[in-house]
Amino acid sequence: MQRFAKEKPLYKKNIPLLIPRAEHQISRSAINRNALKVLYRLHEAGFSAYLVGGCVRDLLLGVKPKDFDIATDARPEEVRKLFKNCRLIGKRFRLAHILFGPEIIEVATFRTHHENAKEQHGKMHQGMIIRDNVYGTIEDDAWRRDFRINALYYNIADFSIVDYTGGIQDIKDKVLHMIGDPMQRFHEDPVRLLRAIRFLAKLNISITEETEEPLNRLSYLLGHVSPGRLFQEVLKFFQEGASLPTFHLLQKYKLFSQLFPETGKFLEEPATLDLLQSALTNTDLRIRENKNISPAFLFAVFLWHPVQKELEESTKNGLPIYAAYEKALQYHVKKQTEVLAIPRVMQITIRDICLLQYRLSQRRGNQPFRLLQHPRFRAGFDLLLIRAEKEVDVKELATWWTRFIESSHEEREKLLKEVEKPKKYNRRKKRKKKE
Ligand code: ATP
Ligand code: MG
Repeated sequence: MQRFAKEKPLYKKNIPLLIPRAEHQISRSAINRNALKVLYRLHEAGFSAYLVGGCVRDLLLGVKPKDFDIATDARPEEVRKLFKNCRLIGKRFRLAHILFGPEIIEVATFRTHHENAKEQHGKMHQGMIIRDNVYGTIEDDAWRRDFRINALYYNIADFSIVDYTGGIQDIKDKVLHMIGDPMQRFHEDPVRLLRAIRFLAKLNISITEETEEPLNRLSYLLGHVSPGRLFQEVLKFFQEGASLPTFHLLQKYKLFSQLFPETGKFLEEPATLDLLQSALTNTDLRIRENKNISPAFLFAVFLWHPVQKELEESTKNGLPIYAAYEKALQYHVKKQTEVLAIPRVMQITIRDICLLQYRLSQRRGNQPFRLLQHPRFRAGFDLLLIRAEKEVDVKELATWWTRFIESSHEEREKLLKEVEKPKKYNRRKKRKKKE
């Protein structure tokens, strides 16, 4: 961390570029109604109030914003006094949440970069920020953000856009550009490595050479991030409709193996690559069609081949198949959870989806009817379907299950008889022998 001279001012401050209402395309009709209410209320009370971050970036790029964040010079306690539906949250930094039914509008007081804080309110540990709750000006607030496209402000006072860092130019050039020295900024908060990948994939933009250069080299820094935070970031990868390009970029910059070490060992194998790509393509398609997606399903897909390998070893050593499944799953889910803090319920779902691969192959008696009632049947069947795309011996099973699902009760009975026939025949034969 010594390579960053302490005495040098971190960033050059400059005069912002102001883009008046007539010269940009953000119209109030595209802004969330509740966010507008909050902005106006703050403004009327004499505070400055801006939309900031991802929503301004997305509106300028013609993308639908995920959330509308607000920045203000009002302190959290002042914000609370203005709104009865307000809750103050956060340890790392204090934020105001304004609640409108299920919707939350987040209001943050301008903060400064930790290095600018006279008294050490901001805290560092091995070059990483661990607490940065130091209030500042809008200018300070802009420079502490990660990328220039994320540091644009929409001013409710005159509907102009305020740009301190060069974000407007980057929006025009469609490029991701870290604010400040990329090496230092990635060191401060290695999650920015993942944020960079996410924005590249989601916004389909390019990256400046200086911002790109450390991505590969600093991938190891993810090992310093808490599993809880990493899990939250990985969830976002799956939820934005660009999980396939995200996966390719994670691979390109050697970040994937930091997040999924065991899966990473199998990426040279076409079968694993095919399975992953197929699942991620499906996920992106579902998001485009506004359907639900299941992160647990994707985790199950990622762990499937490592689990298979473990299974082979255990069964070779004489462990019964079901016990071998349980052992392999316990090992791999636990190992993955050490890197990404997968919640307990999701761990059970992942385990069930993988176990269903075995259970779906057991089609005797009442079993298939019972499996149809299994809460994870659909996800298990979906994994079976994508496995069947490449595994010849799974194809027959997947076709049978597809027919079974689509059939009437009588037809299902017939399908069951089809798979039961050979066994009955054998039993009869055996009995005859005994007689
Ligand atoms: P999206 O919400 O679409 O995922 P976003 O850019 O809005 O993208 P958020 O996590 O909602 O991302 O953060 C809001 C803003 O806060 C960002 O635009 C950025 O300015 C700032 N920010 C978030 N995380 C960081 C970080 N790790 N380092 C610096 N600034 C950050
Ligand atoms: Mg956001």
